[in-house]
Amino acid sequence: MKDPYIPADAPFTDPQRVWISDFIAGLKSKYPAVSENVATDEGLSVKRLHILYGTQTGNAEELAHDAATIAKKRGYAVDVVELDSIGMDQLVLVENVLVVVSTYGEGEMPDNAQIFWDALSVDTAPRLDNLSYAVLALGDTSYDEFCHAGKLLDTRFEQLGASRLVQRIDCDVDYEDQAADWLDRAVHTFPKPTFIATELGSEQKVFASNEKRSVKWNRKNPYRALITGNELLSGDKSFKEIRHVTIDLGDSGIKYEAGDSLGIMPINCPILVNSIIDWLGVDGAAETAEGNQSIKEKLTYSFEIMTPSRDLIYEVERLANNEELTTAVASKKLLETYLWGRDVLDFLLMLPSASVTPEKLFSWLRPLQHRAYSISSSPKAYPNEIHLTVAAVRWEREHRQHKGVASTFLADLATEGEFAGVFLTSNKSFRVPLDDSKPMIMVGPGTGVAPFRAFLQERESREATGMNWLFFGDQHRECDFLYEKELVDLNNRGVLSRLDLAFSRDQDKKIYVQNRMMENGKSLFQALEDGGYFYVCGDASRMARDVDRALHELVMKHGKFSDEETVHYVNELKKEKRYLRDVY
Ligand code: NAP
Repeated sequence: MKDPYIPADAPFTDPQRVWISDFIAGLKSKYPAVSENVATDEGLSVKRLHILYGTQTGNAEELAHDAATIAKKRGYAVDVVELDSIGMDQLVLVENVLVVVSTYGEGEMPDNAQIFWDALSVDTAPRLDNLSYAVLALGDTSYDEFCHAGKLLDTRFEQLGASRLVQRIDCDVDYEDQAADWLDRAVHTFPKPTFIATELGSEQKVFASNEKRSVKWNRKNPYRALITGNELLSGDKSFKEIRHVTIDLGDSGIKYEAGDSLGIMPINCPILVNSIIDWLGVDGAAETAEGNQSIKEKLTYSFEIMTPSRDLIYEVERLANNEELTTAVASKKLLETYLWGRDVLDFLLMLPSASVTPEKLFSWLRPLQHRAYSISSSPKAYPNEIHLTVAAVRWEREHRQHKGVASTFLADLATEGEFAGVFLTSNKSFRVPLDDSKPMIMVGPGTGVAPFRAFLQERESREATGMNWLFFGDQHRECDFLYEKELVDLNNRGVLSRLDLAFSRDQDKKIYVQNRMMENGKSLFQALEDGGYFYVCGDASRMARDVDRALHELVMKHGKFSDEETVHYVNELKKEKRYLRDVY
């Protein structure tokens, strides 16, 4: 992509280009770009508010931008940056920091906050006596380490002498309203920018009248989108059911970029809804105590009825007198194994039928959540359409079929011609390189290939000259080679410069994408040395961890580095946003 301000041959890395470009754009904008505590020609003096975010799926990033919008309207000069892009040397210079951070996996920092945390948590971290801060933590109460990343940052800032301006908030998956209220309050507590009164008045008016009021589709207000295609990608002999779903964006106004995800608001499986109603022993058409919906509607649209909530697990344990369950809840590990494959109905069946009222049951359930899918199309190739690559998950337990909520909603209910509630989840850090000449290395086994199909469409439309190299793998070539025709065609046409395949079960010994990376370690390292970008998408718990290990190994081997130099090299890739992951 051409940058209007920086010549193509200027010797800057992509992150430097973005920074310089943003800086110049700021200078050219009609609002004065004001540095910290510096009096401008207009006589304004503004303290900058730094909004730092750590995100895995884009929610924290979106909230950080919401906070920036609020702050700008109130006249603050604002920076919004990822936590990892701030070094301790910079942190000691700033005075006002608002942090929005999610927790990833089992209480870990998200990918773009780990380097920041590593530097902040060491004994040698600098004092932060001049810093005022506030932390908004995002998490999921179904995990033990709820909002752990936010709690760690909040505590560590305090230990280092920073002043907490407002109490941290820990938000669950249903975070939108709570987070919006908190942000509104928190931004207020930072020192007011000292504009001259008349200037402030005129600025505020301009902001208000210029504000773009585009409809914001979200979990609570999803766009009702038409499904225009829904076909099976995997072959007859596959153990999996992978589908290619196409969604028309109609008049939604949704604009997306390759790398973004689409939130899908699922509808619960009618068979499971009816089974729960039967167990409750009530008339599903009867109104709930609240009176605005029937019991059946509530169970269909409002609650998670697949994954048991903590409340449900502990209430059933208390009432059921079931030794196996009582033993399981005593240990995190045992409970994890016990929960595997069990749904809400499996738990209810441990209690006498009709022993619980619908209202009691509702109080144990969590609100129905959206599921985010990495978009597998580029808007340059499909301007008003979004493609998804979805693995429909189904399994049998106790002679009853169990199903993944959103994946089977998309497979069974959202068929061609039907509608689904959708909204965009932007992932601004998961993008193709700004510089089209840079190599891209993509590791995406299974449905992890989704965003890379989008990236390849994007690079082709941009006529990017940089190398595109994909590592794809799945169980069997014959039936699991997703998008085979397209990928082979892209490879033949040279858009996909290299395609390395790892079909794990086509031979006795398993072969995975990381084996292919190691076999091609020298060229892969060279591509990184040439300024290449390394992307990973797919399973977080095993694949992404093993791929990370392989990356370290090949960097060490071909760079002839020590352990320490290897870690530094990979950390630099992360800092320069050249090692990017979309994993869960
Ligand atoms: P998968 O289960 O990840 O399997 C794909 C291939 O990876 C198989 O050949 C599998 O081999 C192999 N594999 C297993 N363990 C591995 C390891 N430790 N290292 C490397 N490869 C390994 O594929 P999937 O069923 O399509 O699931 C993909 C994952 O991506 C899911 O966790 C999904 O949630 C996630 N994801 C999907 C999207 C999306 O939008 N579609 C986006 C991001 C993430 P074997 O089975 O033979 O062991």
